[in-house]
Amino acid sequence: MIKRSFIGLTKPKLMCDLVEPGPKEPESIPIPPRMILLLNETLDSTRESLIKKGDMVKKGERIFLYKDSQEYVTSPVSGTITSIAPFTGDFGAVATYFILETNTTQDIDSNFTEFAGTPDIVTADRYLRGIPGNPPLKQLADSANKINKIVITGVDDDLMCTTRQYLLTRFRDDISKATALLRQLTGISDISIAMPESMAKLSAFNGMNMVKVASDYVSSLPQMIMVNHLGVNFVPGKTCEEMGVCFISVEAALSLVKAYAEKLPVYEKIITVIDKKGKKTRVSAIIGTPIHRIFTHIGVETGEKDRIIIGGPLRGTAAYTLYHPVQPDMDNIIIQDANDIPLISDYPCINCGNCVRICPANVPVNILVRYLEANLYQDAADSYDLFSCIECGLCSYVCTAKIPIFQYIRLGKHELTKIDSDIETEAENV
Ligand code: SF4
Ligand code: SF4
Repeated sequence: MIKRSFIGLTKPKLMCDLVEPGPKEPESIPIPPRMILLLNETLDSTRESLIKKGDMVKKGERIFLYKDSQEYVTSPVSGTITSIAPFTGDFGAVATYFILETNTTQDIDSNFTEFAGTPDIVTADRYLRGIPGNPPLKQLADSANKINKIVITGVDDDLMCTTRQYLLTRFRDDISKATALLRQLTGISDISIAMPESMAKLSAFNGMNMVKVASDYVSSLPQMIMVNHLGVNFVPGKTCEEMGVCFISVEAALSLVKAYAEKLPVYEKIITVIDKKGKKTRVSAIIGTPIHRIFTHIGVETGEKDRIIIGGPLRGTAAYTLYHPVQPDMDNIIIQDANDIPLISDYPCINCGNCVRICPANVPVNILVRYLEANLYQDAADSYDLFSCIECGLCSYVCTAKIPIFQYIRLGKHELTKIDSDIETEAENV
């Protein structure tokens, strides 16, 4: 695998949106009669599951599929499970979904409450995974991960997105509490807060270890923050955590503060919805709320062929159903009019070089894409820097031939990771 340096980065000219001055409070979406919960574990029809149709669950109760399951999803309301079925996500990733009929009275699971007075990372990981912002508790609790820096990110990681900036502005007085709590939970003292340069002047942040991020697109991506501000070189194929740096969104940090203050897990997710005309509406919705409930409540219309993007325009993924549930890391939803969806093509690369010039990681994208199109993923990784890609999506955006390069890249990485994990499983079973 070639390991290219990030030194000599190109400077793309796309600028990120800044949060509007004096933002309004988010609109609160009522709890729907049916919620949809996603659990990151495959349903196995040959095994008896711990949870069944008709089971009652309490608000805050953890749902495990099997006795030996490591993954869980927490129920955001009390209710009755009415359906359990397999869910297929991006690139064929499999999970399980539960439909939960909401009860009118809410029974609360108080298992976390007894531990909330003495915060520690093991119980945080045991009870608070999947709260708004999706804090990386599993990584922080993993003693094999040698994390020595935490960065609370108040910068958004795609164009048009402003949810994190909103939360940083709105709850700036709580950031010092979040820093203190993370220090207490992890024992890590090197904690910084990444924010747009323009916000760094606010007095609430005086005395904090600030990372002032430029407002051009890509500067806010974790790998760029590591290289440009923390002096940590990005190693292709490794995660930021594997390099000792853990990024946690400002919403995740604030959710932890709120959960410990209330001694209960929290579920209200802040999302910025951008309609077809570009109008932004910020909402607060319970995790598990089907997104059509949000659209109906705020009067956003969607047509049959419109595209619903979860995330931003460059890095987001398309939702294929209006029943897609609010997820802990869902900061943004964009509705793109059917007539505005950019074309993709199966035309060959014309070697214009746009992708190579714009790539901030110096990947030879024009060659890489040829290998990916031919399903030669290992060659793409070994010789053409597949794992140096930081997934900014700029190459697809500028491609003259409209090749979906970013999607090819994500598919290539996914396939190679899957092959590695299959090999590991086979080796364990020998
Ligand atoms: S998505 Fe494209 S432009 Fe961005 S780092 Fe990866 S290869 Fe480079
Ligand atoms: S931008 Fe598209 S057409 Fe141009 S070199 Fe890159 S892959 Fe080829």
